[in-house]
Amino acid sequence: MRDLLSDAARRALDYLDSLPERPVAPSAQSVARLEEFERSLPPAGTDAAEVLRELDEIATPASMAMAGPRFFGFVIGGSLPASLAANWLAAAWDQNSGLHAVTPATSTLERLALDWLIELFSLPATTAAGFVTGATVANFTALAAARHAVLRDAGWDVEADGLIGAPVLDVVVSEESHPSVTKSLGMLGLGRNRVIRVPTDARGAMKATALPKLKRPTIICTQIGNVNTGGSDPLHAISDLADAHNAWVHVDGAFGLWLAASPGRRTLIEGYERAHSWATDAHKWLNVPYDSGIAFARDEPALRAAMSITAAYLPHTDTHRNPSDYTPELSRKARGVEVWAALRQLGANGVAELVDRCCDHARRFADGLAAAGFEILAEVSMNQVLVSFGSDAETRAVIEAIQQDGTCWCGITEWQRRTAMRISVCNWSTTDADVERSLAAMLRLAASVGAASSRERR
Ligand SMILES: *Cc1c(COP(=O)(O)O)cnc(C)c1O
Repeated sequence: MRDLLSDAARRALDYLDSLPERPVAPSAQSVARLEEFERSLPPAGTDAAEVLRELDEIATPASMAMAGPRFFGFVIGGSLPASLAANWLAAAWDQNSGLHAVTPATSTLERLALDWLIELFSLPATTAAGFVTGATVANFTALAAARHAVLRDAGWDVEADGLIGAPVLDVVVSEESHPSVTKSLGMLGLGRNRVIRVPTDARGAMKATALPKLKRPTIICTQIGNVNTGGSDPLHAISDLADAHNAWVHVDGAFGLWLAASPGRRTLIEGYERAHSWATDAHKWLNVPYDSGIAFARDEPALRAAMSITAAYLPHTDTHRNPSDYTPELSRKARGVEVWAALRQLGANGVAELVDRCCDHARRFADGLAAAGFEILAEVSMNQVLVSFGSDAETRAVIEAIQQDGTCWCGITEWQRRTAMRISVCNWSTTDADVERSLAAMLRLAASVGAASSRERR
């Protein structure tokens, strides 16, 4: 075991050392070698050291350098040193972290990490929370609490009696709600399409003037941090409306909620703290390993009613929180330990600095691209940049060239019927030099593809 794990650590360190210089996307040859894994289940076993060697030799070169400093696809960070180390150690502990009495160490660390997050985000003191796999499941979990509370207030116990025959409730979303919210509504029996959809503005935020009149028990699904623009819904206006009708406001803050940690930037998501539930991802801006989402609800009894689990063989104590009463899962890895480690390493100031640094890097990308004459498609206030390199075909060609070149990696999206390249800056290890090097590559490749800046076209 010792030799094997030392070998694994050595190989992992070699990989991490390669990140700053290796091409971000794997080569076509490396990906083609994955073919070597394709075999039927071998009847005989293989030495563990050989299993590891095969994995490293074939899979490592075929991996995307997502953990590295110049991966700007999606909105996903890398892994902070303390959180990766904690992940390794906690994997060795192999704790099934559903029940406090059985796994006191991990459930204590998880409770502390949640308390720290509630403080970091300035959420209400009554807030309860649970660690889940990601923001999709965090949205699902929080919306299950919302469904419970709204129907409870209408005199119905949805967990006991189900939705058939329940009082009718309305769900408000926006034209720009994340698909994981839509999916969660489907999984909750509320319907992917049975929603009132609020129109959005140029940054993908709900138009406050277009909010619907509320007539029935209602759940309003809002967003801070649009995946394309970073735009956020007008939460004061939404909460004013909701408070007047006893509606539940849910915030999808998969990455946007981390702005609450930045004293300088939390005004961008102003009003978020008035909501009833929040979903976020630690594997995005906090830079912990996958998978790590968190669901928060200010109404502890509602979250517990939606998620609690009991059986004679599952020990409950009155004095300690059982993690499995706050999440869809029973058996679960102790992903909160990585969050605890990241928060312990950074402190509150370190989280604020990380968030601010990423936003500053995004600003630099936008300024550099705009100075070269390329069009920035939405105001840049967070860590997201949308850029067009001319026509949709030119933009597609530049994105392809950037992905192939390997200096950095950015994805494609569509924003208000135009093709755009999306730059998301989320990694703790991205430096000013990484930004300058990536920007230079983008401009060089745009020129080589022949994309015309708007200045040249004029
Ligand atoms: C990333 C993201 C999600 C989905 O999160 P997963 O962790 O991939 O499940 C949901 N909403 C928003 C706004 C996101 O950015």
